[in-house]
Amino acid sequence: MRLKEKVAIVTGGGRGIGEATAKAFAREGAKVVVADLNQADVERTVAEINGAGGRAIGFVVNVTDRGKVEELVQTATSNFGRLDILVNNAGITADNTLAKMTEAEWDRVIDVNLKGVFNCGQAAAKVMVEQGGGVILNASSVVGIYGNFGQTNYAATKWGVIGITKSWAKELGRKGIRVNAVAPGFILTPMTDKMPEKVLEMMKDKSPLKSLGYPDDIAAAYLYLASDEARFVTGTVLSVDGGLVL
Ligand code: NAP
Repeated sequence: MRLKEKVAIVTGGGRGIGEATAKAFAREGAKVVVADLNQADVERTVAEINGAGGRAIGFVVNVTDRGKVEELVQTATSNFGRLDILVNNAGITADNTLAKMTEAEWDRVIDVNLKGVFNCGQAAAKVMVEQGGGVILNASSVVGIYGNFGQTNYAATKWGVIGITKSWAKELGRKGIRVNAVAPGFILTPMTDKMPEKVLEMMKDKSPLKSLGYPDDIAAAYLYLASDEARFVTGTVLSVDGGLVL
């Protein structure tokens, strides 16, 4: 088992990529805290992990709420004794062209995708520094690297996540903490369900593999980066996008 006895928090763990990641981690022996805004999704995912013989608990959290994020980290340590891995996966879109994007759309996406990552990373790093090590993984996106029509706010956050990742890798490496990001291409989840079918078809066609991705494709990348197999990997951005931008 690649994560035997490790303790992990996965934000946005109730569905989509986060759900697949929480399940993959549990299958590899991790004790998982499924943290998400949506209580029903948290309960379903936790029940499915425990039903399959894994070990998970749920925590309903809005990652923009610093007090609740502190409680989330305390819940992990009080239930499982430590915190080894944080997957900063929770993220949202609120798409619009530059001309039409509202201040509220800008603020909402910045708040969840950047402040949420900062809140969770800061709270988790405190425990990991005291423990003498850990792994923090952040959700970037192909859109953060290459931009996308109608996603000024989202692209800014996903590029920002890369800056956060590299800064934390430099700050926290000496404390035994590795920090990496994953940049998924277009993955079939409720987030991409909102996108026009013709855009998804176009992305599929552009990819050398002629395929969109599945949540398990991204979970596999997080699993590798969380495991000791990646002990010498920090500050990197792993693109998992079917070669979309080649
Ligand atoms: P998803 O299906 O929309 O799932 C995101 C989960 O995060 C949902 O359960 C959502 O809860 C939760 N969440 C949203 N805001 C939150 C908050 N403030 N606090 C706590 N939880 C919150 O998204 P996904 O496609 O799995 O994407 C996961 C991550 O990968 C995101 O960071 C996304 O930007 C990134 N990503 C996705 C793709 C893709 O193609 N899908 C590509 C590149 C990067 P609710 O259900 O209540 O909203």
